[in-house]
Amino acid sequence: MSSQQQAQPLLIVGSVAFDSVETPTGRADMALGGSASFVSIAASYFTQALVVGVVGDDFEAHHMARMSDHGVDVRGIEKTRGKTFHWRGRYHEDLNNRDTLETALNVFQHFNPIIPEAYRGTPYVMLGNIDPKLQLSVLEQTKGARFVGMDTMNFWIDTAREALHDVLSHVDLLFINDEEAMQLADQWTVLGAAEAIRAMGPKYVVIKRGEFGSVLFGPDLTLFVPAVLLTNVVDPTGAGDTFAGGFMGHICKTGELTRSNLAQALAWGTVMASFTVEAFSVDGICNLSREKIDARHRQLLDMVRY
Ligand code: AMP
Repeated sequence: MSSQQQAQPLLIVGSVAFDSVETPTGRADMALGGSASFVSIAASYFTQALVVGVVGDDFEAHHMARMSDHGVDVRGIEKTRGKTFHWRGRYHEDLNNRDTLETALNVFQHFNPIIPEAYRGTPYVMLGNIDPKLQLSVLEQTKGARFVGMDTMNFWIDTAREALHDVLSHVDLLFINDEEAMQLADQWTVLGAAEAIRAMGPKYVVIKRGEFGSVLFGPDLTLFVPAVLLTNVVDPTGAGDTFAGGFMGHICKTGELTRSNLAQALAWGTVMASFTVEAFSVDGICNLSREKIDARHRQLLDMVRY
């Protein structure tokens, strides 16, 4: 990226996990996952990513290297006694739906995120999918942030709705998939859900619709970007987090929340997410060449040039 020097860093707080995933065609066991892992590797193509999280003593140097090899600053990832967060899921035949078979919070159960002094003034913050109580604690420590994005999922909508509403009232943007948006807002349409969620606090909502693309809703603003259409879909895990990493990375790079920048951020999020689904774990987004990323970006823009 030519303008990378001017890019502002992105502070990411989220899960760093081991994922065990079954799809109709394959499986991965105890592979690197977690919201912060996907967000930070995706964002690293746009800006400096700083991660705060926790792992257990089963988390090895080669797992950490997958992030640090991308220039991700992992000094804020605390290593503590116990097991790393573990998520187990199984995808249905169509790969659009999945069942969570196990969520073992492990070291997250007693985690209290302390944002290092040096990170506290970071202007852009991404609250990855974790316990909303932890997201609230991060907000307390990053009060001067210019722009805060957040993600969540059904697990927290089901188990921590009150704290989730509290977080929502303090953030600028929520990334959420369509099913979870309707569940959170108790609405039956994407537009109805977006309006109800914006009334809860965030100025912007990005609703992700899998292979049907994503829509950003803001003040007097609705932007749609289709998904990159692929035949080689291996494992969608982390696509949402990767999307957020690409989106926030572009905002960190460009700074302004203009219509054009927001539309481009949607496109970069879409492009990065398309690489995640082509492989298990973070394999699809590690070591991508600039040429490969730009070619896919052109492919996406060609689809919407009428
Ligand atoms: P996505 O496919 O983008 O929704 O993100 C999947 C990632 O979220 C996986 O790598 C999981 O490790 C992580 N994850 C799943 N459940 C939770 C949870 N309850 N809290 C935090 N992270 C989770």
